[in-house]
Order: sequence, then structure tokens, then C-alpha cells
Amino acid sequence: MVAELIAVGTELLLGNIANTDAQILSEKLSALGITVLHHTVVGDNPERLAEALETARRRADIIITTGGLGPTYDDLTKQTICRTFGRELELHQDILEEIRTWFETKLGKRMPENNVQQAMLPVNCTVFDNPVGTAPGCAFQEGGVHVLMLPGPPFECRYMFDNRARQYLEKLTDGVIVSHEIKIFGMGESSVEEALREPMTRLTNPTLAPYAKLNECMVRATAKAETREAAEALLKPLVAQVLETLGDVVYGVDVESLEQVVSAALLERGLTLSAAESCTGGLIAKCMTDLPGASKVFRGGVVSYTNGVKSGILGVPEALLEEQGAVSEPVARAMAEGCRRVCGSDLAVSVTGVAGPESDDRGNEVGTVYIALASDQGTICRKLSCGKGRGRERVRSAAAQNAFDMLRRTLLGLPL
Ligand code: ATP
Repeated sequence: MVAELIAVGTELLLGNIANTDAQILSEKLSALGITVLHHTVVGDNPERLAEALETARRRADIIITTGGLGPTYDDLTKQTICRTFGRELELHQDILEEIRTWFETKLGKRMPENNVQQAMLPVNCTVFDNPVGTAPGCAFQEGGVHVLMLPGPPFECRYMFDNRARQYLEKLTDGVIVSHEIKIFGMGESSVEEALREPMTRLTNPTLAPYAKLNECMVRATAKAETREAAEALLKPLVAQVLETLGDVVYGVDVESLEQVVSAALLERGLTLSAAESCTGGLIAKCMTDLPGASKVFRGGVVSYTNGVKSGILGVPEALLEEQGAVSEPVARAMAEGCRRVCGSDLAVSVTGVAGPESDDRGNEVGTVYIALASDQGTICRKLSCGKGRGRERVRSAAAQNAFDMLRRTLLGLPL
């Protein structure tokens, strides 16, 4: 099965927003074993959308559009698709009632008349109702091509894919496709590929494929079988083989992030964490507090960007800052110890480094980062090079991820 994604929206062409729907859907489709060969973006223009649809129907089995399902005059996706594929639109009374109820209960107001348009859907289509927004999606088949329409807002698009479109697509492929994501930190994509080249090139079902992410990478194992259990049975030895080959650089299977693993390990052990952050500017605290239930394990943090805050709040001795400089091991250690005391946490992590674009006045290169971890077992510290010439954003995220990996290793008793 080959799919093509068509995103509709002039904002995308103007660069006001990025086409994140395409990224979300491509990832999900590949996990279903559906190959995406083209991403197309068109503005809110019916002629160009029709052209894109004509091209797509010649080269894809599945066309998925995002956006343009709203109630305004420029939301023309359904009308244009129906014209191109020779379908009529009809009013779906039940969907109209759902939209009306959504307005009254969620927004506390009467539904404007032009929202009736959202309940107009192609004749004989599969309706994807939308409990998280107003625009319903739908799907139909015409001339051997499946056309699916999903809403533009990323949250709605993701929800509708996971809860409605996925079932529709699974029925198109005979059997079940199951995949597991093996998340890796501390080993680059090419080294992972080298270590796993043999199964990656030899296997056809299950398959193994590498993916690079920001500062980390992932290997996805996918199997197709008649039942979920049969697919899982194919995957089990392969996942075990990958874990054995890669060792402790694997931080989890089917987990979201390093911080999620750290948070779970803290919770399991009944421990709390705090963070003293200089060059990461609060990124560690943000990552922790992005997780629901964070208050059980994360006490808080101090963005100690200047020496004044490092000494005034964290109690780093001024003489130490003067002698060693802010980017140094003794200061990182003192920051972590001070933070643990101030926040009253079991563990405290600190980060001090040079995010760039220039080296600091003591000659530390861009990307030089010290990460310390204080606990009742004492304080440990590592000096890292988080990437010269990589830009502030990447240095900061690499520093935060390394801090989480250091925490993971310490909590799980793995070598640093
Ligand atoms: P609704 O009108 O109900 O919000 P819709 O399906 O008509 O949904 P659009 O009006 O096209 O969607 O887009 C609504 C918003 O969704 C856009 O302003 C944009 O913020 C976001 N959006 C649309 N398409 C994309 C896309 N491909 N990637 C990321 N965001 C998108």
C-alpha cells in the first residue's frame, strides 16, 4: 500500500506554520507498514487542490488530506474532493447534532449556522466523528483509491488518526501490523546501524529499521501476522536480540523519552529530584513538568544563570566562582549540592556550560558542559562536549538529555 499526504492550507505555504500533521501521519503510517511516497502542500485553492488530487490518485492507493474541513468559505477540501471523485455531499443529521451539542456543552454558545457545512459529508462514506473538535473527518473508496480526510489542528488530526482512521486502514491490509520502538541514547545512528546491519538487511518479517532523532536514535521492529499474538511472537526474539546487542544505551522500549524513564524510576524508588540550571535555562524543569504527575517526583529548580544567583541562592562560594569560573567541575558540584539543600530533594542535578555561539572568557569551547548529581551517596560530576558549532538550541537539549541519562544510569545502577 502506497499513501500520499496532501496538506491543505495557505498558512503552510506562507511558512506561518510547519506541516507537522504530515510528520505525525508519516510516522504512524510507516508503523502500520504503509509506505508514504509523497507529501504535497497546497493553499486554500480548489483548482490546485484538484490538480494535486489528480496527480495523487494516479500514483497512490491511499490519499490522506489534512485541513480545510472547517466552516469558513476557504475550507474547500470536501467539496473539491467530491468534485474530483464524482461524489455528492449529503447532510448527516447525527453529526450535525454532535456539532451542535459540542458548541452548547463545550463552548457554552449556540452553533453558528455556517457550521452546518461541517456535517455535509460525501455520500456512502465512513464518517470519523470528532469528539475533540468540531470538524468530522471521513473516508471513502473510489476507483481503487481510498481517500481519507482529517482535520488540520494537530491534536485533532492525531486523535482522529489513532481512534478512527487507523481501524479503517488496518482493514485494508490483511493481517495485523505490530511494531515496537527501541529508544537509544549515547550511540549514534550509524553505529547502531553497523551493530545491527545483519538483521536489518536480512530480515523481511519482522523488519528492523533505524531512525535518527534529535541527539538520540531509535530502532523500530515491525512484524506482520494474522493475529496480534502471532506478530508479538515474531517480534519477541528480535527485540531481545537488539537489547542484547546494544546493551545499556537502550533506555526503553515503547517509551516516550528519557525523562519519562527517569520519572518512573524516581517514583518507583520514592525519590525526589530538583535541578540547578545554568546553560539549559530551565529545560530540565520543563521536561520534568511536561510529564503528568510530575509533582510526586520533581520538587523544583533554580535557573541560576548569573554568578549572583549561583552564589546568592545556591550558596556557591564567590571565591570558587572567581577562581574556577562558572563553567567548571567544582562549581557544578556546588550548584547541585546547594540545589539539593535549597529544594529539599533526595537528588539534585546541575548543569553549567557554554551554549555559544562564542567560547567563554576562560577559553571553554562551545558545547563544554559540566553535569553534577548530588545525593546522600555524595556528588558525582561529568564533563561533556555537547557539540561544537551546533547552535545554542542543540547544545542545550544535548546537555539536558545527558543530565537525564546520568540520572537514569545512577538510579538503575548502570555504569556512567
Ligand atoms: P477547523 O476549521 O475545525 O479548525 P480544519 O480541518 O478546517 O479544522 P484548517 O482550518 O485548515 O483545519 O486549519 C486549522 C489550524 O490547524 C491551522 O490554523 C493550523 O494551526 C493547524 N493546521 C492545519 N494544517 C496543519 C498541518 N498540516 N500541520 C500542522 N498544523 C496544521
